[in-house]
Amino acid sequence: MHKDIESILVCEKEIENIVNSIAKLIEKDYNCREFIMIGILKGSMTFMADLMRKINMDFSVDFISASSYQGAYSTGNLEIYRDIDCDVSGKDILIVEDIVDTGVTLEHIKKHLIEKNAKSVKICTLFDKPAERKVDIFPDYTGLTVPDVFIVGYGLDYNELYRNLPYVGILNPSVYT
Ligand code: 5GP
Ligand code: MG
Repeated sequence: MHKDIESILVCEKEIENIVNSIAKLIEKDYNCREFIMIGILKGSMTFMADLMRKINMDFSVDFISASSYQGAYSTGNLEIYRDIDCDVSGKDILIVEDIVDTGVTLEHIKKHLIEKNAKSVKICTLFDKPAERKVDIFPDYTGLTVPDVFIVGYGLDYNELYRNLPYVGILNPSVYT
């Protein structure tokens, strides 16, 4: 185990089982109806790479790199570092996210895609941390609901580190305090 990890929350095998069961649900729900899978960079990359290979149907993939920011008097805006390449108008969209915390990022990205005339926008998240939720965002697919702890690994970072860990662990608070 990495020295900065306090404890392992989800091991490799458990992640694999979670990914497999989400893939089966998606296959069943979309039932050969084509969709566009849009990953939110960078945290979702590992999850999305594993998930897409378990879904046995046709779909295309794209990425968006964005995060929400809170202006002094604004209710929060979306800063897009890299927008999608594809035309989502009239298309069914499945957003793939690593973890939903306040929900603000996803609320904005969902709105952004609806403004581009997406036909439907569903959300698939590996982790859901509902303790700090600030907006009404209800993921359609959730791998695991986690307590209010800061986790890293399997794509999730702290200061761009730990994304390469094959498991998900609770980061030792001494690293960020
Ligand atoms: P929110 O839902 O608050 O708008 O933001 C969600 C984003 O915050 C996630 O995509 C992720 O990048 C980051 N985040 C929230 N909780 C955690 C956590 O426990 N660990 C890591 N590494 N990132 C988190
Ligand atoms: Mg993220």
